Amino acid sequence: MRIDIFTLFPEMFPMVLENSIVGRARRRGFLQVCCHQLRDFSPDRRGRVDDTVFGGGKGMLLTAEPFARGLDALCEHLGYMPYIVYLSPRGRVLDQQKARELSALPGLALLCGHYEGVDQRVLEEYGVEEISIGDYVLTGGELPAMILTDAVSRMLPGVLSEEACFEEESHYKGLLEYPQYTRPVVWRGREVPPVLLSGHHGNIEKWRREQSILVTQQNRPDLYEAYSKNLH
Ligand code: SAH
Repeated sequence: MRIDIFTLFPEMFPMVLENSIVGRARRRGFLQVCCHQLRDFSPDRRGRVDDTVFGGGKGMLLTAEPFARGLDALCEHLGYMPYIVYLSPRGRVLDQQKARELSALPGLALLCGHYEGVDQRVLEEYGVEEISIGDYVLTGGELPAMILTDAVSRMLPGVLSEEACFEEESHYKGLLEYPQYTRPVVWRGREVPPVLLSGHHGNIEKWRREQSILVTQQNRPDLYEAYSKNLH
């Protein structure tokens, strides 16, 4: 999969993209990420990409043209227009289902806003989907783009050692993950639940399932409600 990111701050990305699982996925060729400096696509000789907001209001808005030129150049380079996402607090909140859907695409273009955001018309012109990473406002779309890239790339086939790695995890089947333990068996007087040491796979499965339900009920009653509705 290929992800192209349009941003005013491409230098924010390498640390995240070169390390850990995302870094390894790139080195192994499962994932290609290209960061583009939005200013390079400015029609203005000095690279200006923002302007004041019509109708008044504080702050500056990113203009439509640099994103449009960047996307057109990308389309020409790739031979197709990738699916385009604008990271935005107005969008639908990212969840595991969405990350999985996006991971099935050949390419993705991510638009990072800044200041007050971006001119609405470029979103309409290119049929851009808005995705939020949560109900709070950040200063720019860079961290959200990194989060989306991370969530999507760990679901690409081959990136995690076994598919079970994410299929067992929180949010995959609508429940949160059960508690997990490693050595030592007793730590500061706290013991690992004996069933996990029993070697009895049926009982372990049952215990994990019960714990998943319990954790979800306690931490995220909203998720639990949706999960139990789906059962009926
Ligand atoms: N005025 C806008 C907020 C602008 S924040 C509004 O009220 O909707 C500046 C930029 O940060 C946005 O353009 C967006 O790209 C990014 N951003 C901020 N919060 C975000 C969030 N929760 N999810 C995704 N992107 C976000």
